Amino acid sequence: MCSRAVTSAVSKMPGVYSTHVNLVSETADVLYNPKVVSIDDVGDRINTIGYEYMGIHDNNSINNDILEKKHEENQRKKIYRIVVGFFFSALLMILMFGNFNLGIHHSFILLAISILPFVYVSYPILKSGINSLRHKNLNMDVMYSLGISVSFVVSVLSTFNLLGNNHFMLYDTSIMLGSFLMLGKFLEDRAKSKTSDSIKKLVELKATDATVEKFIDGKSIQQKVPINEVLKGNIIIVKPGEKIPLDGVIIEGKSYVDESLVTGESKPIQKEVSSNVIGGSINKDGTFKFKVTNTSEKTVLSQIISMVQEAQNSNPPIQKLADKVITYFIPVILIIAIISFIVWYVLLGQDFLFSLSIFISVVVVACPCALGLAIPTALTVGVGLAAKYGILIKDGETLEVSDKINHVLLDKTGTITVGQPVLSKVINYSDKSDEEIMLLARSIEQYSQHPISSALFNNEDKKLYSLYDVDNFENISGKGVKGSINNKMYYLGNKKLIYDNNIVVSENILNDLKNEELELRTSIILASDVVLAIISVEDTVKVNSIKAINELHNMNIETSMVTGDNENTSKKIAEKVGITDVVSEVLPQGKLDYVKELQAKGKIVSFVGDGINDAPSLTKSNVGIAIGTGTDVAIEAGDVILVNGDLLNAVAGIQISKKTMSRVKLNLFWAFAYNIILIPVAAGILIPYNILFRPEYSAFAMALSSVTVITLSLLLKRYTPEILKDE
Ligand code: ADP
Ligand code: MG
Repeated sequence: MCSRAVTSAVSKMPGVYSTHVNLVSETADVLYNPKVVSIDDVGDRINTIGYEYMGIHDNNSINNDILEKKHEENQRKKIYRIVVGFFFSALLMILMFGNFNLGIHHSFILLAISILPFVYVSYPILKSGINSLRHKNLNMDVMYSLGISVSFVVSVLSTFNLLGNNHFMLYDTSIMLGSFLMLGKFLEDRAKSKTSDSIKKLVELKATDATVEKFIDGKSIQQKVPINEVLKGNIIIVKPGEKIPLDGVIIEGKSYVDESLVTGESKPIQKEVSSNVIGGSINKDGTFKFKVTNTSEKTVLSQIISMVQEAQNSNPPIQKLADKVITYFIPVILIIAIISFIVWYVLLGQDFLFSLSIFISVVVVACPCALGLAIPTALTVGVGLAAKYGILIKDGETLEVSDKINHVLLDKTGTITVGQPVLSKVINYSDKSDEEIMLLARSIEQYSQHPISSALFNNEDKKLYSLYDVDNFENISGKGVKGSINNKMYYLGNKKLIYDNNIVVSENILNDLKNEELELRTSIILASDVVLAIISVEDTVKVNSIKAINELHNMNIETSMVTGDNENTSKKIAEKVGITDVVSEVLPQGKLDYVKELQAKGKIVSFVGDGINDAPSLTKSNVGIAIGTGTDVAIEAGDVILVNGDLLNAVAGIQISKKTMSRVKLNLFWAFAYNIILIPVAAGILIPYNILFRPEYSAFAMALSSVTVITLSLLLKRYTPEILKDE
């Protein structure tokens, strides 16, 4: 399939806004106005230009099953053609070169034997070639058709003595050429479908039905229901060993759950009431009930699938270059083929048949198919491999840029540290009780999503606490929160927030703050008109942070820590994980400015973060890596998403990108090498050494080059990122 032909034909249709074709999955994304044009019109259009429209492709597995069956059927048809083709070309060869004398009608008998197999074997290629030509689209099928039909037509003409007394019998060649081309297409399609295995595996993770608890006349009834009929809020029962069908929150029971297939997290995770479960993960030992929060199309898994699919369908910038090269390739080859013919026939005085077969060899050997496959196949495998580890790469461009990252900025809270701080100390300067202080603090924090807020609630469900009503709540990003209780305004946050509101902080409070910070705690100040208390929370460094940062240094990538937290705590934590460059006490804008500063110095910057305050930096950096357990805003802003939030995966993502890009380059090398080496050979440069490259060999070599490239891409599947090797 040639992406350019489909893209240009469909894009020109009225009502179509954009078209994007993927060579590997053999799908096209078409954005169209259904009032102007229907999807069937688009399908018809695709059919008329010589490709086959097979239907709408989506994550719905039923539909994909049909497509898969069609694919299998097409492959089977190719096998029939290949077998028939080789049988008849062998038969013809025996008749032509064996010492059979079939009398004066010899050539007519050959024609009679050839005609049907020729049409049968070459039909798909000729049809596609003719259609392409009709649309003034000079692609490889045109070249193949040229090769096949020239050899056949010349044979027919000489059979009827229309080429003088010369008998050019190329019947065997024309059929064998067609068979080899079919073989090439068969192998290519088989391998291509393997490169997108990862999606198939993800789709298979989706459950087909769920056991829903229903209440009829007050009695609880369990009922198996198709997954599409389950509604948000339904209660689902999961037994040991069962697949968890949808996303939700546990309301009863507990268990260990294996989320490895969805998030890449290898250890089973303990789940209890109010824990979230992810559709597609496996329940290990317990039985539990959960309330559905996401219906089938909206689950984390569905989102992962569509994201991986989109990424696999996107083109990295290097693809544009390759496409351009391919555009010039074919006309150039045609010219080389004609020149070769002229050289042999006119200048070197060889006979017509010989020169013609040289022409055909060159035309066929020059197929830039491998070139067209070099990038998309590697990309598909690379993106799929990353997804296996729970690393979601949004597009091909990200992969290409990730290969070049030389500076990684890491947010502290939630990225380097667990981000689930625990309450560790309250220093009370007021005449209120400590309980009252905590009640005020919790009330103001109740609407905040910041990890500090969760710490104040002991990381429990906030609804379990009875709190004051809060008016005029406001979240001041990077500083804290404020809100009024009983008409009195309270502030809770860092020093900046307090100073911004002109509240005096005494020397001894500042001292207390400093001491807390040196203990690696993050302290926030609760104040109304005066400072009431300091509340300290303590976060722990994630187990893998040190290892991840160390590996980045090994890869010659510089690191910095950027955080809104205080200088003392930040520096100590940075020291602990091996980062020397620390930017602390910055607002979201400050983080962004640092990204820009490094970029201005020519650095290719990756930003790893989890919070709302990280979103601008995630967007601006060359590769934004979002911690998947973080906020939705961050996830939306990231180019790469680490589903389980493990920092090792940030490094693994970079390593997979590097590996994939090096495979892309290797593929491009081989694709070019084949053409560059074989074109002169096909043109007859080795004939002085008695090596004649017949058109059939050309067809075989081209099939081999495509297969080489796809195999190299498939081998990528075996790659394990260095950092995950001893996991
Ligand atoms: P980080 O960059 O480390 O993720 P943030 O920018 O989210 O940190 O926050 C910076 C600082 O602002 C925190 O260390 C804390 O002092 C204060 N802060 C932010 N949000 C809150 C909140 N909801 N409650 C109290 N303090 C907050
Ligand atoms: Mg953070």
